[in-house]
Amino acid sequence: MIIGANMRTLFPPKPEIVADIGVIGGSGLYDPGILEEIREIKIYTPYGEPSDKVVIGILSGRKVAFLPRHGRGHRIPPHKINYRANIWALKSLGVKWIVSVSAVGSLREEYKPGDLVVPDQFIDMTKKREYTFFDSGVVAHVSMADPFCEHLRKILIEVGRELNYRLHDRGTYLCIEGPRFSTKAESRVWKEVFKADIIGMTLIPEINLSCEAQICYATLALITDYDVWAERPVTAEEVTKTMKENVEKAKNILYKVIERIPDQPNLEMCSCCRSLETALL
Ligand SMILES: [Zn+2]
Repeated sequence: MIIGANMRTLFPPKPEIVADIGVIGGSGLYDPGILEEIREIKIYTPYGEPSDKVVIGILSGRKVAFLPRHGRGHRIPPHKINYRANIWALKSLGVKWIVSVSAVGSLREEYKPGDLVVPDQFIDMTKKREYTFFDSGVVAHVSMADPFCEHLRKILIEVGRELNYRLHDRGTYLCIEGPRFSTKAESRVWKEVFKADIIGMTLIPEINLSCEAQICYATLALITDYDVWAERPVTAEEVTKTMKENVEKAKNILYKVIERIPDQPNLEMCSCCRSLETALL
């Protein structure tokens, strides 16, 4: 009962414009380019401004809400993103699924630049972010044992395979605070001690907040380069080229993934959308 009341104050009960599917675009993906009947809406949230206006459009008869994580023109660094406003904005539109696209570095030889990863675990090494919606009134500890939506992961993996992209169906995403990159010593710790596979700066707390908002969340991670452990210097041109190619792959995947996302999550495959039923209060 208390949670119900709290959720009502946390999120508006009946959105005026409804979109089932949210897409959060990362570096290089500021425009989905695949939506029709586009309109932009500015959403006001109790947590301040989201990264940008939300683009609402239609694909295969589904309403999709697109939000560029860093704002158009890449204005907002990872540690300054208003993650709570972003997730609140999508939730207020009725979003049940979030596909997040993210550029990452590789911590493993066999995870090559240009490869795609659909991570299944994360390690949080961020330092000072707003991690929760439940910071006053009600305390809730949601389970993060399997943080990504298994149902959505399955769809992403299927589509990536069909398109014949080099794709890894598992991986541990290590999230650092940024905006600086790791030192070589840190990078070796992430790789050799923590055994993480990919590294980025934006997964946390986007995924925590999606879980608290009972939204199914999965990430399509695009590898741009090896992290500094590899001691393989890359030029800015190489990174830009890989990133451009990756963004094209991500768009092709999104196109087919959105077509396949069902109206409702499969409750046997995931519990993301019911995370508060099992939360420790
Ligand atoms: Zn789910």
